[in-house]
Amino acid sequence: MTPNLKLYNTLSRAKETFVPIDAKNVRMYVCGPTVYDYAHIGNARPMIVFDVLFRLLRHAYGADHVKYVRNITDVDDKINARAAERGLTIRELTERTNAVFQDDVKALGCLEPDEQPRATEHIAEMLVLIDRLIARGHAYAADGHVLFSTPSMREYGALSRRPLDEMIAGARVDVASYKRDEMDFVLWKPSKDNEPGWDSPWGRGRPGWHIECSAMSWKHLGEMFDIHGGGIDLVFPHHENEIAQTRCAFGHNVMANYWMHNGFLQVEGEKMSKSAGNFVTIHDLLHTDQFGGRKWSGAALRLAMLRTHYRQPIDFTARALEEADKTLDEWAKATRNCKAAQPTDEFVAALSDDLNFAKAEAHLHVLRRADPAALLANLDLIGVKRAELLADDDGDQLPAAQVETLVNARLAARAAKNWAESDRIRDELAAQGVVLKDNKDGTTTWEMKR
Ligand SMILES: [Zn+2]
Repeated sequence: MTPNLKLYNTLSRAKETFVPIDAKNVRMYVCGPTVYDYAHIGNARPMIVFDVLFRLLRHAYGADHVKYVRNITDVDDKINARAAERGLTIRELTERTNAVFQDDVKALGCLEPDEQPRATEHIAEMLVLIDRLIARGHAYAADGHVLFSTPSMREYGALSRRPLDEMIAGARVDVASYKRDEMDFVLWKPSKDNEPGWDSPWGRGRPGWHIECSAMSWKHLGEMFDIHGGGIDLVFPHHENEIAQTRCAFGHNVMANYWMHNGFLQVEGEKMSKSAGNFVTIHDLLHTDQFGGRKWSGAALRLAMLRTHYRQPIDFTARALEEADKTLDEWAKATRNCKAAQPTDEFVAALSDDLNFAKAEAHLHVLRRADPAALLANLDLIGVKRAELLADDDGDQLPAAQVETLVNARLAARAAKNWAESDRIRDELAAQGVVLKDNKDGTTTWEMKR
């Protein structure tokens, strides 16, 4: 039976029937985190949305016939700046940040993607792409930089469909003397001695952000694939530029057939920002009582997110988390003595209509009384596991790996004489029942007290 899946495609601005290039090898790429700081709850949204789609694709085509790639951007000017600020090497910063990110997404119930490629391990592929783009007349070297020539691609701008003047404003293009056209964007740029860099035919340098995703998706999914996802803020310039690079390097008229984007997120009615004081990280939400005065489970966060259709803007509130938590309690009670059956056709059909979760959830509420075993199976399909349903709040301890990460972060803060940060981490751990002991030899040992 052919699965009947419909997805909204940003390229066509329409809901389309999903037809994979190869039903035995359905391929999806999602832009992953730039690992310089803890992921915030806005970052959690694409992780959850595309995890549900990944699970649905596995259900429809078979787990062995779906490949999901989500990259890790570990070379970026924000990383350089943050590492210098913290007195860490770039590698230390990216490793630690990535470890926390992996803990976060796991707690949110996300399956691990099949591949999580790192940009720094794909420099060779980036150089091949850049070389091809120059050879085909789509890029040029100037002043230690290599730039993509946007006038060389007739359909440049087809994804975002913005008029040129808006694109220029959106790209925050810096007018540099080495650019032939102000819309041209950087593929490669020179590195100073204190910046990370790799040897290239154009001198020691580092890649621009966009070329990273073109290289990693090519390496792991091929020149053309099925679905490319990310937040709506990535449509322009990031995704527009990925398309330009990949299509022009390989001479195809398509990079990915379906471009999917999740909507914006705001917190308690306001745009999330550090200055507004409503900046919430996934880590804080799961492990501290900074948001709504208590800790929340990954399952509550997942359900609260899914309750707004993925393409709509979401207003994330403590109240929404409370309601999700209450619903999970009801489902836990209803399914306590059940064995999961098969997901129901009605549930799968609702999700297959461009992830219509509202309709799918209405069906779950019917099943709560009518067929709890089917309820349990359907919840399993969207990544809410029985263990999470039955999780007892008191038993909610920090995993050891996370304690280690925090202990190391505190040691780094102490080494940098950042006492405020060191104290903050100690207090955060104490709130979780973790007691630290600083030893004379400079090491720190820890114990879980409850
Ligand atoms: Zn990307």
